[in-house]
Amino acid sequence: MNGKDFYDTLGVPRDASDADIKKSYRRLARKYHPDANAGDKAAEEKFKEVSQAYEVLGDSKKRTDYDRGVSFFQQGGYGDFEGGAPGGGFNGFDIFGDIFDMFTAGQARRPGPERGRDTYYNLGLKFDDAVKGTAVRINVTHEIACDVCGGSGAKPGTSPVACKVCNGRGMVSNSQGFFSISQPCRNCGGTGQIIETPCAKCHGRGRMPKTETLNVKIPAGVHDGSTVRIKGKGEAGALGGPNGDLYVVTRVDPHQFFKRDGDNIWLELPVTYMELALGSKVKVPTLNGNLTLKIPAGSQSDQIFRLHGKGSPRLKGLGKGDMYVRLKVVVPAKLTAEEKELLLRLNKLGPEDIRKDTLI
Ligand SMILES: [Zn+2]
Ligand SMILES: [Zn+2]
Repeated sequence: MNGKDFYDTLGVPRDASDADIKKSYRRLARKYHPDANAGDKAAEEKFKEVSQAYEVLGDSKKRTDYDRGVSFFQQGGYGDFEGGAPGGGFNGFDIFGDIFDMFTAGQARRPGPERGRDTYYNLGLKFDDAVKGTAVRINVTHEIACDVCGGSGAKPGTSPVACKVCNGRGMVSNSQGFFSISQPCRNCGGTGQIIETPCAKCHGRGRMPKTETLNVKIPAGVHDGSTVRIKGKGEAGALGGPNGDLYVVTRVDPHQFFKRDGDNIWLELPVTYMELALGSKVKVPTLNGNLTLKIPAGSQSDQIFRLHGKGSPRLKGLGKGDMYVRLKVVVPAKLTAEEKELLLRLNKLGPEDIRKDTLI
């Protein structure tokens, strides 16, 4: 079935605590559960993998065996979600029971309107655009309610009917020995409803993919990883529920020589020994053109100058950050004969014993 590492599958480190494993499993199981991903084969596969991994890592004895290299589920393994006997010599019903608890706790099983999922879009931005703000057009494909059936999945003029097998509950109970076990109803796929006459356009799914072009305004001062929310542009809600939101996540390219530190900008400025010793005026690039920086005589390498208000606009709050310029002495790798001669003379003048305080 797959040779994936169970820890990778659950997205936890090998030394994760039992509680963390359980937490991660629950999150992933919820995300990939067939109820939330009707018809999505990839999600179903993922759900099985996650369940398999938890079957082992969620059991301290099996986990110890697994860590020692005992293999589980080499082939076949876990039975299909749609039915089929659980294979691999363990009781898959435990998992169904667990999922059942998670999904139906606190709600009558009859499916009602549900908010659509939020979606994410990674937007690459140039450093300058992130600082100054920009407007972009993006194409996003999201699921929207089918415009023919309005999202019900049933042909217009007809309605879904309650599943007769589970009486619309979506779950069925079986007695097995001492236990009564609940499973998702196979007849209706756990939805509690049967569409007798599917909508011709969406084939009963109730949704369809749609690609939309959106104009997105990126405010000045966004960071790498900032999100801009676009309301209602996520996945369509189910059964008349509201749409989810789209989150545009900004991914900011590094700059050739500026670095962001929050709203502050850092620049390493190459200078010569002479410029520091004699003092000088040097041009400094900023986000808005060049400035002249006055370096006092006797300045030191690594000295930092702060240019107030020359940083990035603050995303939250008013004003701008600062810019910091760090001086960095660059020693010439090659000297002309004349330069060499001058430096030798300078050196002969007697370098002060600058290391006297560091010698023992
Ligand atoms: Zn439809
Ligand atoms: Zn049913």
